[in-house]
Amino acid sequence: MSIRFTLVFIVSCIVQSTAVVESVPQIPQTTYEIVDDLTYSQQTAQTFWKPMTGSKSVSLVEIEGKKALKMPCNFHGTKFDRASWDRELKLDLTMCKGLQFLFYCYDASPIGSFSVYLHSGDGWYRGKFAASTSSGWTTVKIHKNLTDIEGRPAGWSKVDTIRISAWRGQNVDTAFYITALGLFDSGGKIIVVRGDSVANEKPNELKAVKQYTNIMAEFLDRAGLSYIVLSDLDVTLERLKNIKLIILPYNPKMPDKVIDEIAKFLKADGKLIACYTLPSRLEPIVGIRVGPNIRQKYQGYFASIRPFDKGLEGIPVVTEQASWNISDTSTVEGRSRIAAFWYNKNDQSTGKPAVVISENCAFLTHVLMSDDSANKLHLLLAMVGNLVPELWRGAAKGCLDRIGRFGPYDEYNSSKQGMEKIISKGSPAELAMERAAGLRKQGLALLSEGDFSKAISVAEKAQESMIDAYCLAQKPLPREHRAFWCHSAFGVAGMTWDKAIRLLAENGFTAIIPNMLWGGVAFYNSEVLPVAAAVKEKGDQISLCLTACKKYGIKCHIWKVNYNMGWATDKKFIARMKAKGRTQVNYDGSSNERWLCPSHPHNQNLEIESMLEVARKYDIHGLHFDYIRYPGKEGCFCKGCRLQFEKSIGEKVNNWPSDLKNNESLSEKWLDFRRVQVTTVVAAIAQRAKKERADIKISAAVFRNWPVDRNTVGQDWKLWCDRGLLDFVCPMDYTDSSSHFQNMIEQQLKWAGNVPCYPGIGLSVWNNSSDICKLIEQISITRQLDTGGFTIFNYGPTESNEVLPLLGKGITRKK
Ligand SMILES: [Zn+2]
Repeated sequence: MSIRFTLVFIVSCIVQSTAVVESVPQIPQTTYEIVDDLTYSQQTAQTFWKPMTGSKSVSLVEIEGKKALKMPCNFHGTKFDRASWDRELKLDLTMCKGLQFLFYCYDASPIGSFSVYLHSGDGWYRGKFAASTSSGWTTVKIHKNLTDIEGRPAGWSKVDTIRISAWRGQNVDTAFYITALGLFDSGGKIIVVRGDSVANEKPNELKAVKQYTNIMAEFLDRAGLSYIVLSDLDVTLERLKNIKLIILPYNPKMPDKVIDEIAKFLKADGKLIACYTLPSRLEPIVGIRVGPNIRQKYQGYFASIRPFDKGLEGIPVVTEQASWNISDTSTVEGRSRIAAFWYNKNDQSTGKPAVVISENCAFLTHVLMSDDSANKLHLLLAMVGNLVPELWRGAAKGCLDRIGRFGPYDEYNSSKQGMEKIISKGSPAELAMERAAGLRKQGLALLSEGDFSKAISVAEKAQESMIDAYCLAQKPLPREHRAFWCHSAFGVAGMTWDKAIRLLAENGFTAIIPNMLWGGVAFYNSEVLPVAAAVKEKGDQISLCLTACKKYGIKCHIWKVNYNMGWATDKKFIARMKAKGRTQVNYDGSSNERWLCPSHPHNQNLEIESMLEVARKYDIHGLHFDYIRYPGKEGCFCKGCRLQFEKSIGEKVNNWPSDLKNNESLSEKWLDFRRVQVTTVVAAIAQRAKKERADIKISAAVFRNWPVDRNTVGQDWKLWCDRGLLDFVCPMDYTDSSSHFQNMIEQQLKWAGNVPCYPGIGLSVWNNSSDICKLIEQISITRQLDTGGFTIFNYGPTESNEVLPLLGKGITRKK
């Protein structure tokens, strides 16, 4: 003990006395305003940046005259969840897009993830960033509109503390460096009001508020229009001084004070775009009446938005949007008019207004969704441009500047030069690039003539052509395992299994992993699990999917969501399981009735028999585990688990369940017990399925960080690979950050050993779920790391209609 203390003491003395650290790369120059310039002493730095319990103090380092903070992550031999520091600092982030800083980490592999918290009022704004090992400094940006809310923050003007947290990934020490903490992108003439105040009265609306604010922000980014996302808690007339346009993307509840300010803004010649909701007090000011909510009469009732009468300059002829309900809106004589109607899927007008326009407002009768994004952008820009003509030029220029900015390229000339290296003469890719060049020229001419609406339209087409050329220039890799997970047991909405599978085959895919069973429901004629009611009407889904797979030569791996009974499980079945003590119990004694208890022998049997039944009855290629774990740290603390655990260790637990947390040797045994429950099921199914069908492949979707997840959720997948229980494994590496993606796979390949690891790519859960360039980038990473294949989440309508054909043009092209 004393030796260790001395060592720690010496080491910390060395760190503190080291003013210059040579191994840290030179800090790049920044031009933005800095909010913490680090011009203080070592001692002050340690007082300012308060470490959370367990974390070590920061230190200041100096690299060629510039200072940075070193944040040590002492994960070796410690137990706390995160290395974390609080810095009290009063900040007003209202009129900027967010917080940024420079970041450097020589080894990020021990860190699961990073968070930045901004304290305000009685809550926090929580941002995350995906940093990874790098050889130099990178810029981290925490976008306000991408933050989550905890508690009740009092707005972006009242930020008083910054917290930086590095979450434990592995029990290994590392450190990271930050400097040049500042704000980014102040300015612009547009404000997007985010309805944060719903946190108080309608907290279940927060997710939708965030989602539709983000979609709006993304469209504005795409058009190159500057804007600020402002919390509705921060709207004041003073802050609206230089603003021309306010956008309400989805604001189901707004404070009266804010409505007053917007009213004043409108009376002073300000303009408004509102979607779906409009505070009634603003109605007379904008001359538009918003009526009650109307639901779709059937799916496809609200299918597209089409101009009416004079329409709006620049509005597309058809903008698709699959809305499920709208606000029934009417005009006010002499003040407003209908610019577009909703049409149903049979191209008939519903007679319900989609866009109503007045002198100072454009009202969209539903939220702006991200489907049919090219036309959606035009629809939005038509509303913006008609209200504030001066923004047209900016948008047109923004769209033209964007041509060539995609994937690895940041502007037109670099993309042109980059692509010329990878495309051959006379190839379709070259033709697509020539087409793009012609369109761009045309767009620039339209811009100078002042025809902004047409310039935008042409610029969009040029960008599409460039990306087309990029996709065509990609090359396939032979003998690659290319799979999609398909979350719906009924396949792709609006498509037969036959068509969905044919498209996969045509575009070079080799496998599908359809989700056909859950803890308490089957989407085929099962004798083991309750059968979903829809099967009667729509048929045995495994049979339908499998027939198509055979026809087109696609491998079919049937996916089970283990333990979790899911949304489609009959409520009576869940109640029966609960009554029999077969559902999970949380630490506090409350029940987690959606999840079956993994230690209950009947539940283990149900998991095993249900999957074996599928292997026995259907000529499938494989069985695929998912949710093959505990829900989290909590669970399961039911009576049955207690009995089973006491039996396994041969002694009684005096205080259940607190001893499992407080007694160290017991807690180790407990974590082991949980792992054994899950592994037992995996082993039984893997071994017995091969008796049913000798060539069957067993696989699993697993969490990304095995050393931690084996404790938190009891998922010991490295062991499953070591024991040869799995034929391939798919870690769910869902991240927007390709460097993070690469870092994760590098680790996972070591854990998988000889078992093929086909990383899961999180396309559908990315911020932009049709980002073909990022998809190409992540597929290329799996190739660099020689994984032999990949698995994409998830096969749905957008992926099938928009993304898959672009993959098939090059990177997964069929011979
Ligand atoms: Zn239990």
